[in-house]
Amino acid sequence: MTEIADRNGYAVQTHDLWRIYKTGAQEIPALRGVNLAIRPGRFVAVKGRSGSGKTTLLNCLGGLDHPTSGSVYIFGRDISRMSDQELTRWRREEVGFVFQSFGLLPTLSAYENVELLLRIAGVPGRERRKRTMYCLELVGLARWAHHRPFELSGGQQQRVGIARALANNPRLILADEPTGELDSTTAREILKLFQTIVREEHVTLIMVSHDILVDEYADEVLQLSDGKIVASQ
Ligand code: ADP
Ligand code: MG
Repeated sequence: MTEIADRNGYAVQTHDLWRIYKTGAQEIPALRGVNLAIRPGRFVAVKGRSGSGKTTLLNCLGGLDHPTSGSVYIFGRDISRMSDQELTRWRREEVGFVFQSFGLLPTLSAYENVELLLRIAGVPGRERRKRTMYCLELVGLARWAHHRPFELSGGQQQRVGIARALANNPRLILADEPTGELDSTTAREILKLFQTIVREEHVTLIMVSHDILVDEYADEVLQLSDGKIVASQ
């Protein structure tokens, strides 16, 4: 299957993607036929108001949620057909997640937060230490490696979050409103860092946001409205 992908050359492709939440008798269509085709090595922003389906889309792309119908191909593999067990393994190898409120474990240092998933994945000590320090250096936090989250600013905490997302050397990074809790100066620094990472680490980044600033930094901006892509620029 990977070979098909490589021939098509897309990092992310969705075909008529629907996600309908069923709560009691109510049906909420959060995604209504989303078609995406994103090339590797791009920084793509998906913008849209609150409730437009951004988080649902990202969760479907990262295998954290199952679409109601349609398909999701990531580097040519149809993840919508994978079992939960396959998805867990696939995520560990292929995807990094960045969250709005950073998602760091408060009792662990920056270093330990970045290293944790590598430990769980059974990466040997030496390689783990090397990769952890590389990722912390990449986000400019090597000097802060042994500080815990509460000793760091919001921007620094998000840098740790980004280093952690990179730790497993993923081809795809999914970021859900990563600048949502940051002031605009810090938000710009984070967006610039994302740009650098996309260029230098050859990852594909999909970031959802309603921040106007992203237009200046992303290669491509898609607009999501009521679960549909309504414009791209
Ligand atoms: P956004 O991230 O753009 O704010 P979401 O993807 O979180 O949008 O939500 C899209 C729509 O789906 C909203 O109407 C929201 O209320 C609904 N929704 C999201 N998650 C659930 C859920 N777990 N159960 C029911 N409805 C949900
Ligand atoms: Mg959201």
